[in-house]
Amino acid sequence: MDELKRLRHELHKNPELSNKESGTALRLKFFLSRYRPDELIQNVGGEGLLAVYNGVEPGPNVLFRADMDALPITEINKLPYASSKEGVGHMCGHDGHMTILSGLAVQLSNKPPQRGRAMLLFQPAEETGEGAARALADLTQRGYSPDYAFALHNMPRYPSGSLLLSRETFAAASKGLVVKFMGHSSHAAEPEKGLSPALAVARTIEGLIHLSKTASGYSDYILLTIIYARLGEIAFGTTPGYAEVMATLRAFKNEDMALLTKYSEELVRKVAEEQHLRVDISYVEEFPAAVNSTEAIAYVENAAREASIPTVELVRPNGWSEDFAHFTLHCKSAIFGLGSGVDHPELHRPDYDFPDEIIEHGVNLFEGVARQLLG
Ligand SMILES: [Zn+2]
Ligand SMILES: [Zn+2]
Repeated sequence: MDELKRLRHELHKNPELSNKESGTALRLKFFLSRYRPDELIQNVGGEGLLAVYNGVEPGPNVLFRADMDALPITEINKLPYASSKEGVGHMCGHDGHMTILSGLAVQLSNKPPQRGRAMLLFQPAEETGEGAARALADLTQRGYSPDYAFALHNMPRYPSGSLLLSRETFAAASKGLVVKFMGHSSHAAEPEKGLSPALAVARTIEGLIHLSKTASGYSDYILLTIIYARLGEIAFGTTPGYAEVMATLRAFKNEDMALLTKYSEELVRKVAEEQHLRVDISYVEEFPAAVNSTEAIAYVENAAREASIPTVELVRPNGWSEDFAHFTLHCKSAIFGLGSGVDHPELHRPDYDFPDEIIEHGVNLFEGVARQLLG
């Protein structure tokens, strides 16, 4: 355990932003090579790392994922292992997730699986939502397509070390909607000679808010938040000819996200048509909903029971998104929470620090799942 704690502190002290996790990968490689995985593959989906432990008999490919990236947040904690980089910090606890997965490597090296293949994936670029899909495509191409996938995320506000379980959706689907209205500018004294998107912006903002509050047909929670709008330039002599409106769409179910997307697009196109504007609609930072499979989540529940880890059932899914969702679309998967403590600072805060005391529970849960599937 002391060794794992030291690894966690080393990772914490040396955080790296999304897609820049090369130093982190090197530290992990150094640690893992002492525990002799059958294979240690670098540059998976970017700076990712895959450690493989093979069983002797045939069986499933079971993947366990930890995210590697830190955030552009300056840590304010006064710790001996506080971030050594101004403006970058492990404020989401991915240092702890990587340590837990390294702990699983220690266990598997002591007692290798009987059958199948344990695949320990250290995944880059979770915070930007790019890493999971990239790593999955890469693994599939290399012939390491998983049959099962598991991940965890620490969660403040819940009892330390408890399993936080959601039987269906664990984290919401979300996407950024980008709307661009193109008219043409004119002199502010002659607005009739231009084609201003001013009214279109107003109607789009009002319409999108209204539709997310009133439209029916959804089976679960949906949310639309206007996050940005821009019209013309600060030029008092000019009638604007260009505008942008952006919103974040969220839903607990992928079907509801499809419906919310359809309604939003219909509204935007109708507004553009009425105002005789050209319109361009695009999406950024798309996350599907992370939906657990019944079979996979049962393995996690069993593992908690065997290790006497208390379980808390989440009343509702998390409103945030997780790029592990791409795995849930690919194979039988489960992602669950690990309580960081009721009084623990929230994720992404400058005073957050992953609690070392929950590392052991995380390792036990992952190992419990691995033993059920791989022996
Ligand atoms: Zn985060
Ligand atoms: Zn995170």
